Amino acid sequence: MKFADLGLSAELLKSVETAGYDEPTPIQEQAIPSVLMMRDIIGIAQTGTGKTAGFVLPMIDILAHGRRRARMPRSLILEPTRELAAQVAENFEKYGKNHNLSMALLIGGVQMGDQVKALDEGVDVLIATPGRLMDLFDRGKILLTGCDLLVIDEADRMLDMGFIPDIEHICTKLPPQRQTLLFSATMPPPIKKLADKFLSNPKYIEV
Ligand code: AMP
Repeated sequence: MKFADLGLSAELLKSVETAGYDEPTPIQEQAIPSVLMMRDIIGIAQTGTGKTAGFVLPMIDILAHGRRRARMPRSLILEPTRELAAQVAENFEKYGKNHNLSMALLIGGVQMGDQVKALDEGVDVLIATPGRLMDLFDRGKILLTGCDLLVIDEADRMLDMGFIPDIEHICTKLPPQRQTLLFSATMPPPIKKLADKFLSNPKYIEV
């Protein structure tokens, strides 16, 4: 399978070429067309399988070709740690640099001021750890009602770190009519329960 067969736009194919990728990894082959078709996904995949590009590339395509709503984030990526969130943000910048999309990285351990400023200016994508996101939300700095694409990445690590109640709470703040992508290396019962509650008819991908 070639990248050109997955349904990505020509601009994104250029980003892929610039990144130096010859062909999609198995998770990308299965995830990208489904994300573009607005399906929910459960992806059982470890770090290193190329799963980040599997959701960031189609997300950029959807955002770049959709309607812009100023000051309202349209996608949210939840990561368990600051490091992972920062890595995904780097990926987003790398693949999306020709697309004029804005992003805010909302992680703990840094001052809130710049994050609040970015939110006030309006962003398309939030890449966040649950704690800082909840904190900003509770202070009334974020509106999630326009966020119709949610990625819950590394769900089993979220579970280990005790973030499931936060994630459940965040899910209730997003519109119910949304697309949800959940990635996890394993599928313990609490993650299965989370998926049953917040995903609708998900495509199950295991690599
Ligand atoms: P991830 O599993 O998302 O952490 O990605 C692991 C690494 O694989 C990253 O360094 C990516 O730059 C790289 N990568 C992602 N997709 C491809 C691909 N199709 N071909 C080669 N490398 C890739």
